[in-house]
Amino acid sequence: MRVAFASLAALLLLIRPSPADAYCRTTTLKAPAGYDPAVSGCWTQGVPLAWPAGRIPYGLGSAASEQVSLADATRVADLAFSAWNEARCDGKSLGIDAYDEGAVSVPDGGSGDALAAWSSCSDSSSCDPHAHDVIVFDDGAWPYNDAANTLALTTVTFGVDDGRIFEAYTEVNSAQHKLTAAEPPPANGVAIDLQAILTHEAGHFLGLAHATDTNAIMYAYYHPGAVHLTADDVAAICAVYPPQAPAPPTSGGCACTAGGAPLGTAGWSAGALAALGLIRRSSTRSRSAPGRAGARDVACRSPRSWPP
Ligand SMILES: [Zn+2]
Repeated sequence: MRVAFASLAALLLLIRPSPADAYCRTTTLKAPAGYDPAVSGCWTQGVPLAWPAGRIPYGLGSAASEQVSLADATRVADLAFSAWNEARCDGKSLGIDAYDEGAVSVPDGGSGDALAAWSSCSDSSSCDPHAHDVIVFDDGAWPYNDAANTLALTTVTFGVDDGRIFEAYTEVNSAQHKLTAAEPPPANGVAIDLQAILTHEAGHFLGLAHATDTNAIMYAYYHPGAVHLTADDVAAICAVYPPQAPAPPTSGGCACTAGGAPLGTAGWSAGALAALGLIRRSSTRSRSAPGRAGARDVACRSPRSWPP
């Protein structure tokens, strides 16, 4: 099914010209369930998300995966982030630089919902003081719905007032899909191209949403071998992180939600969270077949200096 869809997407590329500036950004307001930017255009309500200018750390969960060693996963993640880091904006470097800070020990990183295990704090004093910008593999079970059609999920934690990203967390659905660290992936289509997955997820990590351009890395659906940024992806990352980034907005502060609502179960109230100067998480999943975007509420975040 994945192969068939990928082939269809490739065919569409041949007959459908890519629109200019088809990129979209994740915002502080959740798009309605089922919202498809390829049909309705970018969701633009809310404040666009972005990291502060400067260096942005990421790390692999040290457990890596039964399918992919830590060394291979690290190599592939570094390639994925390098694709974005190396974008040039009128010949100049981006205003950010994502870098590998090394493997990170993640609770329950080998199976189950590692994020839920990590985010169990109920007030700000119990939150981990260090930001975790981590990529993990869910080998044992995919803790979200639509496992057969979901390849990965990136959850971004951000300030509800200014859209500043505090942390991002990428989970790869290694429980349901066979992965390969080889690039290009084997032509038989049995294994999913991990570098293509992580290049796309790195875009979410950096605050980009799904693009309307079917040729873009940030298009919602998997395409094997898609590891090189298109002009639309470059336009996106240059727009968010120009070489000389403007002064960042003032942060609205940080805290954990009182009572620590369980992730994935509580609805959110934008007004209530904004009034408290809190943060929110938004998840964007990559799929191998059509589906809807996900979202999660927030329990806590880890502080990061602002500006850096
Ligand atoms: Zn995606």
